[in-house]
Amino acid sequence: MKDAILAHLRYGLGKDASHSSVYDWRMALSHALRDRAVDHWIPSTQTTYARKAKRVYYLSMEFLIGRLVEDMAANLGATEEARAALAELGQDFDTLVRDEPDAALGNGGLGRLAACFMDSLATLGIPAMGYGIRYEHGLFEQDFVDGQQIEKPETWLSQKHAWEFERPEVQYSITFGGHVEHHDGRAHWHPHETVFATAHDTPVIGWQGRWGNTLRLWSAQPVKIFDLASFNRGDYLAASRSEALARTICRVLYPDDTTETGKELRLKQEYFFTAASIQDLIRRFLVTHDDIRRLDEAAAIQLNDTHPAIAGPELVRLLVDVHGLGMGEAIDLARRCLGYTNHTLLPEALERWPEWLFGRVLPRHLEIIREIEATQQAEFAGSPRILDHGNVQMGELAFIMAHKVNGVSALHTDLVKQTLFSDLHRIHPTRIINQTNGITPRRWLHTCNPALSGLITGAIGDGWVADLEQLKALKGKTGDAAFLSDFMAAKRHNKERLSNWVQQTLGQSIDPDAMFDVQIKRIHEYKRQHMNILETIALWNEMKANPGAGWQPRVKIFGGKAAPGYHVAKEIIHLINDVATVINNDPATKDLLQIVYPPNYNVTMAEMLIPAADLSEQISTAGKEASGTGNMKFALNGALTIGTLDGANVEIREHVGAENFFLFGLTAQEIMEARKQPGFARATIEKSPRMQRVLQQIAEGRFSPGDASRYHGFVGNLWDHDYFCVSLDFDNYYDTQRRADEAFGHRDAWAAMALTNTAGMGWFSSDRTIQGYARDIWDVGPADAKTLEKTG
Ligand SMILES: *Cc1c(COP(=O)(O)O)cnc(C)c1O
Repeated sequence: MKDAILAHLRYGLGKDASHSSVYDWRMALSHALRDRAVDHWIPSTQTTYARKAKRVYYLSMEFLIGRLVEDMAANLGATEEARAALAELGQDFDTLVRDEPDAALGNGGLGRLAACFMDSLATLGIPAMGYGIRYEHGLFEQDFVDGQQIEKPETWLSQKHAWEFERPEVQYSITFGGHVEHHDGRAHWHPHETVFATAHDTPVIGWQGRWGNTLRLWSAQPVKIFDLASFNRGDYLAASRSEALARTICRVLYPDDTTETGKELRLKQEYFFTAASIQDLIRRFLVTHDDIRRLDEAAAIQLNDTHPAIAGPELVRLLVDVHGLGMGEAIDLARRCLGYTNHTLLPEALERWPEWLFGRVLPRHLEIIREIEATQQAEFAGSPRILDHGNVQMGELAFIMAHKVNGVSALHTDLVKQTLFSDLHRIHPTRIINQTNGITPRRWLHTCNPALSGLITGAIGDGWVADLEQLKALKGKTGDAAFLSDFMAAKRHNKERLSNWVQQTLGQSIDPDAMFDVQIKRIHEYKRQHMNILETIALWNEMKANPGAGWQPRVKIFGGKAAPGYHVAKEIIHLINDVATVINNDPATKDLLQIVYPPNYNVTMAEMLIPAADLSEQISTAGKEASGTGNMKFALNGALTIGTLDGANVEIREHVGAENFFLFGLTAQEIMEARKQPGFARATIEKSPRMQRVLQQIAEGRFSPGDASRYHGFVGNLWDHDYFCVSLDFDNYYDTQRRADEAFGHRDAWAAMALTNTAGMGWFSSDRTIQGYARDIWDVGPADAKTLEKTG
């Protein structure tokens, strides 16, 4: 390892050890680790080709990866060796780890799920490729100025990405626009714009290096890099015009995963990466097979939400226009290859494109969608339409072109059947299935929480890392006082680590003995961060009114970004920061109640906050959170959940036991009913003096001195609309928080409940989720059991 690092430093970076920066050392370490990754990766690919094994193609607009050094070293079993080698070279492993920028090619849960799935596919030895976009600028960086979010462009690629291999030879033409002619019994698409898609490959190595898969991200290149004629005329801008246009396609990640921008560029991005991926997988198939009609035997294509739903028409287009299949046959074959994962019921998040826009960018695909529509209507008269009121509905398209459609938690899947796709479900009663989300235990316990991970391994061995159900064995320890004390010592260690970080980065002192109550996720009204901050104000009021009531000290920790155009979400951020300014500086309560909101929540921050949490806030309006995965990370790391019966909370509660979960709030069904009453919010708030008082304080400018009207719109909206039903759950939420206080006061009982959470979370490994997809959707398995034995 030491030699490898020095060799990379010298020959890869052209540096000698005495003149190397932290960046140089990190790159050298990364490349030394990458070499080892390659030694697992290439044999995996060879085996897959040799056995003509079926591959999974996971198409996702987002991969929220985070850092890779620590993860890669851990999966390769090389962490200690790297640490020791670096120490001999006078370098500190952890310092190098911290130097790596997050690869933030995603917004939140959906992108993080894709990253967890890649880890599990490799760990399970299932041949797979993740396909996405190599955004030049990932998710924006968040900062706070006067309590308000400002966005700065993110520049993860300003330093070289240590893990990727650029593949200039893997390049496809992606075309847009123009018109279609029909002659010789064929369609001929004459596009007016072409860009190249170029592959960038990152090896993804599973636990203990058993297997290696590929994350292939596409960047856009101009067909003509440079117009020399314009340049020679002195028109330098025109000379690089085509380059600039092509580059815009992979320039930025759209910073919003719940509303559609309606931008042509977004449609182009979706088609760009999907078309490149489909061309790539067909080319690969034809290397080892000669009958394209058997594509489904070698390729399972999974669509992570509707963003890549154009895969259906694109595959049909290639099968018909290039490979000469009949339309009906092509549609059937495409359907056998495709699966679609639905992630949301929120109507504003369902992708729809105006037909005129769609037809202008993808004229041939619009024709094919009409054929798909006609085939569907011929077979199932009255079926819901893909083309409706002048729109192309991507949800219906994805559903009709997939042989399986899955929801991401039991409750969400039921609601997909009952509401979103009820008519299609009646026609295709076996198509919708459930695959409850999961998280990779490698990143979300083993590496992010060494204190707890070490304790667990000491007690039950390290088999749990690749077989998380083994955590069940910890249930036997919930009555073991010595073990519980070690368990709480690990938590305490993580809380101190976080407290130190908060002190250093925010200059704020927090008490590691207080309850750490954490809500970190995208800021969205349905996730109800505003309910949390209103409850915080109510608690503060109560503390001031009854100073002698023996209050449990609390630190309320928030983290999360708002989409730049989402006004209410930004108001919620502003309010949290305003309330923090007042409450944190109140001498009467500052030792009892603190609010911490570090800017720029990302994967790396999650890895520090989650192990330090006592209480996990999962308080969405029932029926709105499809699954959640943050909820799983917390419970796995020994936090108790305060939550509604929403998404995977329902299943988490079943697995950890109702007595170890702070449940409150209306059910999805009750919410749907209550919301029908006009004026429900006003009527409810009038009956809650506690909520009324809080709203009045906000409206009077208690938290915005000198700007009393700042939150008038916000407060008025709660009284008059309250679409996300904060009013309906508020009092119950407040009371349940006090039950949590009470429980936290009994530290031994709390420790047993927390350990029961960890012990019960084994089912939520993304390894289990991927096994479900492999069995129920993809019909794939590990490529080569013997290889697994040999290298494992
Ligand atoms: C897990 C994760 C999410 C998803 O969190 P939810 O609470 O499920 O919304 C979002 N962002 C990051 C950085 C994550 O690690």
